Amino acid sequence: MGNPVLETFRTTVRTATRATAHRLLLAATLAFASPAAAKLKVVAATTDVAALVRAVGGDDVDVETIARGTQDPHYIEAKPSYMTKLAKADLVIANGLGLEIGWLPNLIRGARNPKLNPGGAGYMELGLLVRPLEVPAGEVTRAMGDVHPEGNPHFTLDPERAAALAAPLAEKLGRLAPEAKTRFSERAVAFAKSTREKLKGWAERVAKLPTRKVVTYHSSLSYFADRFGLDVVGYLEPKPGIPPSAAHVLEVIAAMKRERVKIVLVDNYFDPKIADRVAKGVPGARVEAVGIAVESASGLNTLADVTEGLISALERGAKP
Ligand SMILES: [Zn+2]
Repeated sequence: MGNPVLETFRTTVRTATRATAHRLLLAATLAFASPAAAKLKVVAATTDVAALVRAVGGDDVDVETIARGTQDPHYIEAKPSYMTKLAKADLVIANGLGLEIGWLPNLIRGARNPKLNPGGAGYMELGLLVRPLEVPAGEVTRAMGDVHPEGNPHFTLDPERAAALAAPLAEKLGRLAPEAKTRFSERAVAFAKSTREKLKGWAERVAKLPTRKVVTYHSSLSYFADRFGLDVVGYLEPKPGIPPSAAHVLEVIAAMKRERVKIVLVDNYFDPKIADRVAKGVPGARVEAVGIAVESASGLNTLADVTEGLISALERGAKP
């Protein structure tokens, strides 16, 4: 007894010309050999970018990530193992707006995989597709801290901007893996739809909060705050990327008392000691160490999980 597929194949071959038979043999070989080998190899700069790629790419992509969710994505050590990943990749996807300027360009150069160079077929930068916030008006100098001329790079925490990225991401993936094009665009539509539905629910919950005033550590929550109408009264960092000083902490305490701010949201990769000191200086205030990236804490596997965590932290902070 033979394999029924092969039996059919042999019968077909007997009746076909030699040239057609050759094509059929090739097609049959590909059909048996291709499923595992055909996956598009994508390297995402951050876990947030990787989550977007997984949502749109599904089983048609293999995603690897460079910056872990527990790391400050502005500062990543350029390890040779990252270059090895990039050397084998079909596509690298950067967050962009300068977030990885300190490490990704070096890694891409070191990988010697020319299609991944900026502008190449295997390069994508999500920040170029986003309307940025906090674009500095004048010249950017070192005295301003870690300010990027392109604007604030932490846009993945805005569910609407994340939803809007799904379609262009599907298009890019589809250009590199045309056989999965339809699946990419279907997943992109589904992701955008479910994200926008969740956004409605989150916005309703924020609208019910007794106060929308917050203090944050870094400008990581600017897009989140903008989307949900939060009023960021101050930052624990005196300038982006500059650690809090004693004098600045006193200013933040004064501002919190004056503005009646009850909650300090601290990215969980920063030292919470300073935030605790601030909360002690303000009666009734609480500090919430929050995961602000996918995989920054257990249970945060998608961008929606991260947003849900932030909304819940705001609700806890609002309790008397
Ligand atoms: Zn930043």
